[in-house]
Amino acid sequence: MTQLESAKEGIISPQMESVAQCEGVEAEFIQQGVAKGTIVIPSNTKHGNLTPCGIGQGLRTKVNANIGTSSDYGNADTELEKLRVAIDCGADTVMDLSTGGDISAIRRAIIAASSLPIGTVPIYQAGIEAIARYGAIVKMTVDDLFAVIEEHTQNGVDFITVHCGVTQSAITRLKQQGRVADVVSRGGAFLIGWMLYNERENPLYEHYDRLLELAREFDVTLSLGDGMRPGSLADATDRPQVEELLTLGELVERARQAGVQVMVEGPGHLPLNQIETNVHLEKAICKGAPFYVLGPLVTDVAAGYDHITGAIGGAIAAAAGTDFLCYVTPAEHLSLPDPEDVRQGVIASRIAAHAGDIAKGVKGAEQWDRQMSVARKKLNWEEQARLSLSPERSRQVHSKHAPAGAACSMCGKFCAMALVEEYLGVSATRC
Ligand code: SF4
Repeated sequence: MTQLESAKEGIISPQMESVAQCEGVEAEFIQQGVAKGTIVIPSNTKHGNLTPCGIGQGLRTKVNANIGTSSDYGNADTELEKLRVAIDCGADTVMDLSTGGDISAIRRAIIAASSLPIGTVPIYQAGIEAIARYGAIVKMTVDDLFAVIEEHTQNGVDFITVHCGVTQSAITRLKQQGRVADVVSRGGAFLIGWMLYNERENPLYEHYDRLLELAREFDVTLSLGDGMRPGSLADATDRPQVEELLTLGELVERARQAGVQVMVEGPGHLPLNQIETNVHLEKAICKGAPFYVLGPLVTDVAAGYDHITGAIGGAIAAAAGTDFLCYVTPAEHLSLPDPEDVRQGVIASRIAAHAGDIAKGVKGAEQWDRQMSVARKKLNWEEQARLSLSPERSRQVHSKHAPAGAACSMCGKFCAMALVEEYLGVSATRC
């Protein structure tokens, strides 16, 4: 039985127990969330060393780190190093988006080395193999695509992005819309090219039942991709995007009926004032399915700093009910991320996720900040480092300029904390 089928039967699986322990909630809460589809636990039965992670309503907002080679750069070693950095920095999941080198071998190495759930986008590999075999992505056969999906599920991939909502009707809307940036989703672009050339419906939509069967076999969670996500603020929340979301809402219901766990992906580039609306739309149309957003990026002009752009959007999205943030690195729009970009991206998204969790009232979120404030009042630097999102960075910055006393070098002997303690006798122990 899949997690969803177990939960519907009222059975609490070991994965549900583990997630409950991690989140500090009752196992029944997880089981009921999985049964309703508002929580997913991506856990392929073939991913041996996996620590299960719950994503969804009432749980801590999770952060995904994308790694993977491109046709220009990277190999198994570079990607395993990025995986290590992502795990060290506290990512909750990792997606292998490799499009260069021995893609299958890299994926298997990443899965073997990862205790975190691993996600992939099988259409990338299917498209690349079609180029090698036939000279063009558009020559890919439906069986070729499903063979790659099967390979990923059998390898132990825990969740797969499948752009099932890129239908002919969504393409018609795209043409009529007249976008600034058209399509920025690689998977979406592969499929649109294939559909237009072959004058056929999206095979992932047309053969959705076949996809559900493959996913069900090893309990792979479907992450319904947003091939029509806006890649420019000018294209945000437009008709093709909403058309795709309506289709995804229907596919969520079919996945749940088939016993397959499902979440829904979202934008992308969104102005601040449209983020909440997008979250509410997804939650309403997709019946509470966990929402997984890329960023969102709240401006188009911060190249080199898009981890910050994404964290601003991610915090607002998380506060509004988004469950899962895909990180954005400083390399976004510019190059393939290196390990330092991965570090910056994960930390920025974790800040966003935690800020959202405080607003959402996630268990333990507010207390964490309170503990930090108490440690600050006590000038307890080691405790502050321990409580930091990045203890190493905290220690490094604090020791940059040696302080004369117990305070830090910012105010030195005029430390506000120390002065108030001395003259007003206010003790942090009362906090
Ligand atoms: S010196 Fe200034 S910045 Fe440093 S702990 Fe004291 S009040 Fe805070």
